This record gives sequence, C-alpha cells and structure tokens, in this order.
Amino acid sequence: MITVEEAQQLVLGHTSRMKAVTKKLSSSNGAILAEPVVSPIESPPFAQSSMDGYAIRFEDMATHPEFVVRGEHQAGFSSSHSLQSGETFRIFTGAPLPAGADTIVMQEITSVSDGRMKIMNPSAVHAGLFVRLKGQQIHKGDTALSKGHFLSPASIGYIASLGLDSVKIYDKPDIGIITTGNELQKPGKKLKEAAIYESNSYMLQALLQEMHFPKSNVTHIEDQEKKLVDGFKKVLHRHDVLIITGGVSVGDYDFVVPALKKLHVKEIFHHVAQKPGRPFFFGTKKDKLIFALPGNPASVLVCFYQYIYPALRKMSGHLSYALPIVEKKIMNPYIKKPGLTHFLKGLATDQHVEILQGQESFVLASFAKANCLISIPRESEGVRENEIVSVQYIHSI
Ligand code: AMP
Ligand code: MG
Repeated sequence: MITVEEAQQLVLGHTSRMKAVTKKLSSSNGAILAEPVVSPIESPPFAQSSMDGYAIRFEDMATHPEFVVRGEHQAGFSSSHSLQSGETFRIFTGAPLPAGADTIVMQEITSVSDGRMKIMNPSAVHAGLFVRLKGQQIHKGDTALSKGHFLSPASIGYIASLGLDSVKIYDKPDIGIITTGNELQKPGKKLKEAAIYESNSYMLQALLQEMHFPKSNVTHIEDQEKKLVDGFKKVLHRHDVLIITGGVSVGDYDFVVPALKKLHVKEIFHHVAQKPGRPFFFGTKKDKLIFALPGNPASVLVCFYQYIYPALRKMSGHLSYALPIVEKKIMNPYIKKPGLTHFLKGLATDQHVEILQGQESFVLASFAKANCLISIPRESEGVRENEIVSVQYIHSI
C-alpha cells in the first residue's frame, strides 16, 4: 500500500494545468491570471482632489492672506480653468485640479465671505496636500498584476479601474460528482426505513464553491455494475474531473472500481496507508482524472483536502497546491498503531490544537466543528500532550 506522500505525488504527477482562456472580468473571481495585466492608462488618469475644499497654489500662501474664489470644480466635470496667483477654486473629492493648482485646503479650516477664502489654520496645510497625482497608482504600460496572480475581489476591482473588462486566466475543469449507494436518500423528506440522508454531494459542492468552482454536476447511481458503467460513461464524457463517493471498498456491492476498469480507466493507485480513507482509488482516462472516495463523509473530506484540493489548484493555475502545514502543540494525547497516517479533526487556536471527540469516519458532527486537520505520521505510535504536531487549516474561522 502506498503512503499519503506517494499518493499525493502520483496525483499531482498526473495533473496538468488547464489552457489559458479569455474570460469576462465579472466572472473571473477566484481565477489565476495566465498573463500579466498591463495598465492601458495612467491611474489616476488626471490630478484630482481627495478632499472637499479649495484648490490653491501652495506658494501663494506666503503672499496672500486671502484667495479670490473663481468658481468650482465638481467630480466628473472637465474644465479649462487655470489658476492665477491669489486665486482659488472650490473643489470636491474626485474633481480634476484646475491647471496651476497643487494643493487642496480642506473646507473645515477655511472661512469664506464676499467671494474670498481665508485659511484659518495655515500650519495644517503643506504643499501637495490632498492631491492624488496623475499616475500615482500606476503608469500606463506598467504591470498591474503578474502572471500567476490570484484574482481576489480587490484584484477584480483594480483591473476594472484600469478600464479592462476581460482577462486571460487559466480555465477551470468541469467537475462531475457521482454518489453511489442504495441506502441514500435526498434530504428534505422523511427518512425511509434503512435509508440515510445523502450528504457527500452537499459537502463536495460546498467545497468546490469555496474553491471558486461554482458549477459542478451531481448524479446519483445505484450499486449495480451495469448502471455504474453506463452512468460513469456519460459523466466521464462531459467532465474533466470525476469525484465518485462510495462503493470502492471490498464489499459485495462495491462495484465502482470494476465499473471504472470496464471503461478503461487506468488505475494509478487503489488504497492509501491512511485513516480515514484507506480504500481511496485514483485513476485517469487520457487527461481526465477520476477520484473514487470511500463513502463515509469523513473519508470524503480527508481525501478531498489531501488529494483533490491540490489537484484542482494545480489545474486552475495556482502556484502552490497543498493546504499549508503549520505546527501546533497538541492539547490531548493520542495513541495509534504504526502503519497508517491518521488525519484527525481538530480545533486550533493561535498556539494549540485540540483533538475533537468523534473521530470515527461516519461522524460529521466533529468535522462540522473542526477548523483543521491534524496529521499523525504513519510510523508514529501516537503523541503525548504538548507535543508538536502538523496541522492544516481547512477554513479560517
Ligand atoms: P461505502 O464506501 O459505499 O461502503 O459507504 C461507506 C459508508 O458511507 C456507508 O455507511 C454509507 O451509507 C455512507 N455513505 C456512502 N455514500 C454516502 C453519501 N453520499 N452521503 C452520506 N453517507 C454516505
Ligand atoms: Mg456503498
């Protein structure tokens, strides 16, 4: 049986980055830039006021106790005004400076009467105050964001502010989710006898949404080899990545792996030295990736975070793949036999991490409260209180 580390390397080794595509900026949140964004303009495009007040020439303050108010400059209005010595324009935030002005006096320290403006507190004014210079943020032709940059909402805003409405990003894979299991029932209705509610597809879709894959398709297939073969064939045809849950163990109704093999899916590995998630299967068909996870919800989550998360990040152009590992002092002891890497649901604070109650792989109650996974190495016999362990945050709250 291969180790977690070997399995992770095999998955990434069979994963390649998607092609670059041009997308509308408004649907590019969470994508990775496939080429740098170069600014087509000076930003700000003109010298502007960052305060409501009066535009002056700073040097005039030495010679003019008062300024003649020549008019006003509103945001969005261009003008050909130019300031003569001893003159001022009333100006508002975002409005272009009149030619010759270099400083804004905030209105709170001025008094105006008979068309004349007096500065009440001259020591609060210095040259260039409250002026946003043309090109202060970025110059035309300069790189605004580099290739490989993750498009956050702020990045999207920045690109829009430069006047661009499309970007070249790495494409995202189409992902098909398949649940298997005759016992599964959709939530929302009273549970039938011997049934349980299907929860894996809800988790997987939420995970994918969190990773900025808003669209994924869910199909449910019964535990019958023929139905699995037909169902897999259809979903495989339409998607780049398949995530299957359930039916990969060695039970009499576990037909997932034989069905995949009938469709000529190449097995890369089946079974990993880990708990939970030992029967995890990974295969490929040309450049399509097939992840078949054991059906227990905790196995699904662990396999997702350890293998699918890094693969999807690599495909979509991220520069780093795996969830970062941090070290914490463990608050409670844990005993295990050597042989399998254990992933435990934990609750981490700044310094410490606590192993939560309920580590069985069917238990979601603990996972729902966890903010991290603790990994206890394969050959370890456990940890004592206050030992340092490796932790991966699964979300930040
Ligand atoms: P399996 O891997 O098919 O043997 O399933 C292992 C356990 O996970 C069984 O108790 C199943 O009932 C449960 N299970 C399988 N698929 C799901 C699912 N989609 N949602 C919730 N539980 C599931
Ligand atoms: Mg099953």
